[in-house]
Amino acid sequence: MYKGKTFIISGPSGVGKSTVLKELFQDRDDLYFSVSATTRAPRPGEEHGVHYYFITKDEFKTNIENHAMLEYAEYCDNFYGTPKKFVDVAMEQGKDVVLDIEVQGALQVVHKRPDVVRIFIAPPSWQGLSNLVLDVQPGNEKVQKRLVRAKVELQTANTYDYFVINDTVERAVREINAIMLAEHCKPAERMAILSE
Ligand code: 5GP
Repeated sequence: MYKGKTFIISGPSGVGKSTVLKELFQDRDDLYFSVSATTRAPRPGEEHGVHYYFITKDEFKTNIENHAMLEYAEYCDNFYGTPKKFVDVAMEQGKDVVLDIEVQGALQVVHKRPDVVRIFIAPPSWQGLSNLVLDVQPGNEKVQKRLVRAKVELQTANTYDYFVINDTVERAVREINAIMLAEHCKPAERMAILSE
């Protein structure tokens, strides 16, 4: 059986990643979305085990100590991390795994698994991003923190393997699908299939 690949999708808060990912996952049982653990509180509509595993700081610490996290990072006063086991199981089943994680965590995964593919999703403009973030959380001081963080993240984008501009969801999804397909056409993978 063929092993799946891991794709990291990063991009500033408010860039519309969740909408793009929701569309990407329509009718795709060959793709696995890695549900992260976080210490932040659920937002309205978010479900435990679907959007995140919402856990306490102590539980998060225990996971780190047990080496259960593929990566983790602190982001705007909360911890976020990828449970390793589910990623490995999905890949063994031949599924491609998508990690929606920020840039520090992405770097940790690259060091552990250099064959991971990193895709950066950017907003069409800085003003567009500010409006998006403000739309989600108007008048919230946390918004400023996220915007500062977004600026820092945009500066790391050129270290990624691919850069997708989210001007329309359809286009962003089309580009991500094209990237995934191209990555499966690399000689190492194709020649392994031939030799089988
Ligand atoms: P939010 O609080 O808006 O859901 O997510 C904030 C940021 O944390 C986003 O950039 C998201 O990609 C990132 N994030 C979500 N899960 C993880 C994770 O498991 N690890 C890391 N490093 N970042 C994550």
